[in-house]
Amino acid sequence: MAAKTHCEALDQILQEADSTFREAREIRRSRDLSFYEDGELTRGEHRKIDNLVKHLLAGHDGKPCPAGDRPIVGEQKRAELLRKKATA
Ligand SMILES: [Zn+2]
Repeated sequence: MAAKTHCEALDQILQEADSTFREAREIRRSRDLSFYEDGELTRGEHRKIDNLVKHLLAGHDGKPCPAGDRPIVGEQKRAELLRKKATA
């Protein structure tokens, strides 16, 4: 396996998620929100997390993102290694 793979799409998604969470935090700190407004902010944050998880799990033509540091990708790599060992 080569050094850590880089994924532009993942970088972008992480950046968007980061700014969404930052903005939400600022808004929550700056004033009292109505229940509805807070729900809207939370929904926005969840959408970013959904995007991130979707990309990590299936963002590359239905395959996991190779740049993702997530257990699901780790499992995949471990399974590949085991398969290689078994057939070697
Ligand atoms: Zn990716």
